[in-house]
Amino acid sequence: MTGGLFAGFDLGGTQLKFGLIGEDGAIIFKDRIPTPGSIDGLVDSIAGTMGRLENLYPGRIRSAGFGFAGFYSLRERKILHSPNYPSLNNVDIVPALERVLDVPFEIDNDANMAAYGEWKYGAGRGARSLVLLTIGTGIGSGIILDGGLWHGQCGFAGELGHITINPEGSRCNCGNIGCLETEASAPKIARNYVALTGRDEGLTAEDIDKLARRGDRAAIESFAKCGYYLGIGLGIVINFLNPEKIILGGGVMTTGEFLLDPAMEEARKRSHRVSFACTSIVKASLGNDAGLIGAASWSRDKAGSPLPARA
Ligand SMILES: [Zn+2]
Repeated sequence: MTGGLFAGFDLGGTQLKFGLIGEDGAIIFKDRIPTPGSIDGLVDSIAGTMGRLENLYPGRIRSAGFGFAGFYSLRERKILHSPNYPSLNNVDIVPALERVLDVPFEIDNDANMAAYGEWKYGAGRGARSLVLLTIGTGIGSGIILDGGLWHGQCGFAGELGHITINPEGSRCNCGNIGCLETEASAPKIARNYVALTGRDEGLTAEDIDKLARRGDRAAIESFAKCGYYLGIGLGIVINFLNPEKIILGGGVMTTGEFLLDPAMEEARKRSHRVSFACTSIVKASLGNDAGLIGAASWSRDKAGSPLPARA
C-alpha cells in the first residue's frame, strides 16, 4: 500500500497513546508508552516515536496531531492549565515540537480530538452535530456543530465535565464544587460504595460493576447515584443544543446499564420531550483509539499536505 499516513498522539495522565492512520482513517500501527513525567521527557519521547514511525514507513508520514489533556489556548498556542498533567502548564510546546518534528502538526484538547475521531470514523459518522462525553477518571467532552469542531472563542468550549451539576457536591480539581466530573465519574462510583457500605477496600468502578452484576444493592445504588447526575447533565445538553447525537465513551461506559439506565431516565425527565425524542444517545465505537484517530485525522484535515489523487 502507498499513500499518506498521519500520526496521532493522545496524551493522558498515565499513558501516551499513539498511532498511524491511512487516508481512510484505518489504523496502520498503534502503541502506547507511560506518560513521561517531565516536559523534556515528553518532547524526547515524541521525537523518538516519530523517528520510529518514520523508519517503519519512510517518507509517508504527512502530518501529526496531538490531543493533550487540558485547556489549550488557540491564541497563545499552549496549554494554560492541565489538571491531570500539570507539567504542560504554560509550556511553549509548539516551538519545542517544531524543533523535533519535520512534518506539519496540530495540537488540540484530547476530548476535542476524541469527538473528532468519533465523528469522522466512529459512532458519530455523518452527523451534523454531536456531543461526545468520555466518562472515566474524569469527564471530557467535545462538540461538533454544523459539521465542524466547535472550539469556542479561545479554544475552551466543550468543558461539560466542569458544569455545576450539584451545588452541594464535592470539590473538583478545577476548584469548583459539584462539577459533573466530580459527581458522575469512576472515582465517585467508588466513593459512593464506600459511603453506602463503610467498606473502604480500594474497590474500583470495575470491581463495583462486578458486584452489581451479582445483585449487590449498594453497588447498583453507587452507579444509580452517578447516573442521576449524569442524566441531569445530559438533560442540559439536550435542552441547550438539541444535538443530533450524544455519544458516551470512556472506561465507565464498559460497565453497562447500571450507569446508563438511570442516566437515561433522568435525562428524559429533565429535557423537553420533543428534544429528547430527536437526540439519539449512543455508545462510542472507537474505544481507546478515538483520541489518536481524531488527532491524526484532524492534523490531516488541517495541516496535512494535499495528497496526489489515487491512481
Ligand atoms: Zn470541575
